Amino acid sequence: MTRYIFITGGVVSSLGKGIASAALGALLQARGYKVRLRKLDPYLNVDPGTMSPYQHGEVFVTDDGAESDLDLGHYERFTGVSAEQSDNITTGRIYQNIINKERRGDYLGATVQVIPHVTNAIKDFVLSDAGDVDFVLCEIGGTVGDIEGLPFFEAIRQLNQELEPLQAVFVHLTLLPFISTAGEMKTKPTQHSVKELRSIGIQPNILLCRSERPIPEGERRKIGLFCNVRQDSVIEALDSEHIYEVPLDYHRRGLDKEVLKHFGINNAPEPDLSRWHDISDSLRTPDGSVEIAIVGKYVSLPDAYKSLIEALHHGGLANQVKVKIRWVQSEEFDSDDADLEAKLRGAHAIMLPGGFGERGATGKIRTAQYAREKKIPCFGICYGMQMAVVEAARNMAQIDGAGTSEFGAPKAKIVGLMEEWTKGNAKEVRSESTDLGGTLRLGSYTALLKKGSRVAEIYGSESIEERHRHRYEVNIDFKEQLEEAGLSFSGLSPDGKLPEIVEIPDHPWYIGVQYHPELKSRPFEPHPLFSSFIGAAKVQSRLV
Ligand code: GLN
Repeated sequence: MTRYIFITGGVVSSLGKGIASAALGALLQARGYKVRLRKLDPYLNVDPGTMSPYQHGEVFVTDDGAESDLDLGHYERFTGVSAEQSDNITTGRIYQNIINKERRGDYLGATVQVIPHVTNAIKDFVLSDAGDVDFVLCEIGGTVGDIEGLPFFEAIRQLNQELEPLQAVFVHLTLLPFISTAGEMKTKPTQHSVKELRSIGIQPNILLCRSERPIPEGERRKIGLFCNVRQDSVIEALDSEHIYEVPLDYHRRGLDKEVLKHFGINNAPEPDLSRWHDISDSLRTPDGSVEIAIVGKYVSLPDAYKSLIEALHHGGLANQVKVKIRWVQSEEFDSDDADLEAKLRGAHAIMLPGGFGERGATGKIRTAQYAREKKIPCFGICYGMQMAVVEAARNMAQIDGAGTSEFGAPKAKIVGLMEEWTKGNAKEVRSESTDLGGTLRLGSYTALLKKGSRVAEIYGSESIEERHRHRYEVNIDFKEQLEEAGLSFSGLSPDGKLPEIVEIPDHPWYIGVQYHPELKSRPFEPHPLFSSFIGAAKVQSRLV
């Protein structure tokens, strides 16, 4: 029987519900259970694909090409289970489906309503495709009390009635603020948040209380009493130094044991947490540190680079070093008198991340030139790779008017709009006027690597699968000219038409990839490109 855990949040947003859900999933998995994690997002966008990274952070892409919430990235990193399109739903998508059905006449004249049509669609989503999974963990986005969240709360309330007894558990994440002037921890916001939940028919089984300080026993008792929750189920969730220590911290506080108790499972195997202890040890005892400069457009909101940051840390774990990040705004390098040296001096490697639009593009091109000429390890991802190729075209191959058609109409279209490509056996076609949402080249594609290239050595393979999210593509017509100038096209799509990887063999470490390798990196399996990149930064750190 599949059991369901619903994770809701109260008091304020940004309490780390995604990580809490992922950590609980990891703990159940460590006990031998099969888990699956899902995110229900109450906003009206059909998916986060067209949302600004400043507002919503990174768009996480799954193998099957869904543009989804960044929490799915946490789920994957903590459990190793690859997320799918069917693991993230939004109000927008639900309504889109319902309205399409209504237009087709599928409701046979019925009045279409939030209850039961929207709530049924949410319940169908939660229950769909559970297979032989032991626990499905469903995180509800937003905070209890949000108007748009109501149908989701109503749906999980109904589900709890419809499932077998002991088949669903509600975990509510709250905050216990500490008021320093009064010297007291306050439980009232938590009480109100639970009251709000109970008023819509949901009695949480477990309260996971985020707090900066240890929660005194008396306060836990009080919270239990006022919130109608057993005291043992009021779990302290202190800030952890490293996110990969959260599962260990929650286990110490008894979270997984309490969850199982609420399901009536008293004979669960003890968890094997050895791999989490290993990670914790590595994080706490690095051999040294390296500093990576990320030169990007969205650096004021690190959430926009969530998977990238994590993948860099995984690369650090693989090399037993701590990775420090230096954020550099690419826009600052757009102007002709930009002083790159002042901002980049001392960085042991440079990362050019993905991005969209003109702002900061020149800055990225200049950064690529700086790293190439100064022989500093440099890793370009997606847009970063495209700009590195434009730089190589301008300055290595001396191609006049080299640019990208993402903005303007360059004389030499080094990077151009992809109008046709193949996905499996099907042909995908796009034009300038195609909708922006969901029409990029998305999801997992194969790339074939050149024998003897650095990337083939790093991957230990000549065929790889990586996730994509882009609309433009390096123009294969310039391959010969660029290769003659010293930029090797070491990875191509199987039909040889789409450049996937470029590298400069005559450089300590200079690789650009069209895909997003950061999306597949996990703490237990650091992505080979990130391990190698941080390895190169480590070498560089001993040189400077
Ligand atoms: N803007 C570029 C494109 O659409 C790169 C996208 C990205 O970096 N993810 O092709």
